[in-house]
Amino acid sequence: SRVNAPASTRQAKIRLDRLSKTFGDDNAKTVALSDFDLTVGDGEFVCIVGPSGCGKSTMLRMVAGLERPSAGTIDVTAADPKRPLNAMVFQEQGLFPWMTVIDNVAYGLEMRGVGKRERHERAAPFIEMIGLSRFRDHYPSQLSGGMRQRVSLARAFVADPEILLMDEPFAALDAQNKLIMQDELLRIWEGTQKTVLFITHAIDEAISLGDRIVVMTAQPGRIKQIVPVDQFPRPRRPVELRADPRFGALQLEIWRMLEDEVRTARLQAQA
Ligand code: ADP
Ligand code: MG
Repeated sequence: SRVNAPASTRQAKIRLDRLSKTFGDDNAKTVALSDFDLTVGDGEFVCIVGPSGCGKSTMLRMVAGLERPSAGTIDVTAADPKRPLNAMVFQEQGLFPWMTVIDNVAYGLEMRGVGKRERHERAAPFIEMIGLSRFRDHYPSQLSGGMRQRVSLARAFVADPEILLMDEPFAALDAQNKLIMQDELLRIWEGTQKTVLFITHAIDEAISLGDRIVVMTAQPGRIKQIVPVDQFPRPRRPVELRADPRFGALQLEIWRMLEDEVRTARLQAQA
């Protein structure tokens, strides 16, 4: 099973160096991200928390290559040029409504020219892991929101990207489904050694999932502090972690780091 190795003992997979993003012109300028420095180790799970509007999505979109940095550099080490560099999972899902569950899950393989039989063979174990084998030939409209989100998760892993980028993927789910999804995500991830950047505004989610938690400041988004979560060995079960007194203590510690930033962000939003 995996160990919670500190980032320094792993090879760097993602290197962000003074990453910055400014939107607009001199009249209406928004500094969305400022001098964001982060190195993520190979196989590491890093969570990012910060008040809304602090540039989390902007940072992730730049790592995904969807947005161009205003300054700074992004370096993702690719182990295999045939694999996609990244796969993204968002809150609201981009499943194809005209494709069945299994075809949605296998979509990344189809893009790479993998034949239908092999696609389905490779997708099936992931569909089983998310507990949707009975629904493999259903269409997204026949599934609940939680089930659709599980399909998206399976799709991202089946694509076998160098890195996984998740932007508040469980934010729209109810509390019970959220816990189940965190558990399923960890189970899949524990078997894959994927490097993950996971954005959330939920501190408990960040503690349950992350090897480290990056706490950001209000706009312009900078790194306020990076907190290692090394008190909870893997494999972790999110529901059980919540019963551990150290969980509450860490939650409070991170909330204290965030509190001023959330207040600042609220004032900014009112201005
Ligand atoms: P977060 O994900 O942390 O809530 P975002 O990265 O979405 O924050 O946004 C950071 C800031 O950048 C916000 O003030 C937002 O309004 C602004 N912003 C994001 N995208 C754009 C854009 N395409 N054009 C102009 N401003 C943007
Ligand atoms: Mg966002």
